[in-house]
Amino acid sequence: MSQIVSPCGNGRVGQLGSGLMRQLADLSMPEVSRRLTDESVIVLPVGAVEAHGPHLPLATDLIVATAAVDALMTRFGDEHDLWALPPLAFTKSNEHAWAPGTVWLSARTMLAVLDDIGRSLLTAPTRTLVFVNAHGGNSALLQVACRDLRLAHGLRTFLAHPFKDTGRPSELGMGIHGGHDETSILLHLRGDLVDMAKAVPNVPSALAENRFVKWGGAVSFGWLSNDFGPTGVIGDPLGANAEHGAALWKTIIDELGAAMAEVRRFPNNAAVSPSG
Ligand SMILES: [Zn+2]
Repeated sequence: MSQIVSPCGNGRVGQLGSGLMRQLADLSMPEVSRRLTDESVIVLPVGAVEAHGPHLPLATDLIVATAAVDALMTRFGDEHDLWALPPLAFTKSNEHAWAPGTVWLSARTMLAVLDDIGRSLLTAPTRTLVFVNAHGGNSALLQVACRDLRLAHGLRTFLAHPFKDTGRPSELGMGIHGGHDETSILLHLRGDLVDMAKAVPNVPSALAENRFVKWGGAVSFGWLSNDFGPTGVIGDPLGANAEHGAALWKTIIDELGAAMAEVRRFPNNAAVSPSG
């Protein structure tokens, strides 16, 4: 089992100097100006510390985001001039606010944090920021932040999602939280933190009958994870396995790397005056 992140999944600080590649915070101040250019791409792993049912650790999304960015740096960092920031651990997890262990930021706080991070980067030569987000509850807000950072600070901004939910038939397309694929990926990355004996399926199958009101439907809804049962799981983790996780992971990293090529040549031509 590869030990990609520290046992509590709490970021990179304890591992600085451990050989992880292209970690921006490993550089000294002069090195930032010397090694980065306006072609460099800053990548921010966006995780979460939130309930993931009885079988997965709170740090699941943090582990996934951090491991994805570490792998991206190792395989594609030199090719695309990528630099990883330390991960954002606490994010917008208020759909799990009811659950012990969840630590979450309000939308207002998180937007302010993202704005501060974007503004701070203006002292470095780079003008490109990519969020690699492993928590679906952040997606809408990160899309807002991408545009706001573009306008306010002139940054070229992008949002990438490493998680690929192919799911299994029993999930009816709703393996969105603690389900088969996410559990398989955790078994691959940090199997020591997964307790399959506690894995229980929970699929809100009535939603699958709906034409409009469903995930991905024309009518979305403000949901809390305990709207669908006391575990907060939405999906079917039974049958999850590390081999499936490893295969998914390879595809995820391959595609993230390929996406970075398109990020680098994306035309952001509008003249924007950074607010500084
Ligand atoms: Zn998750």
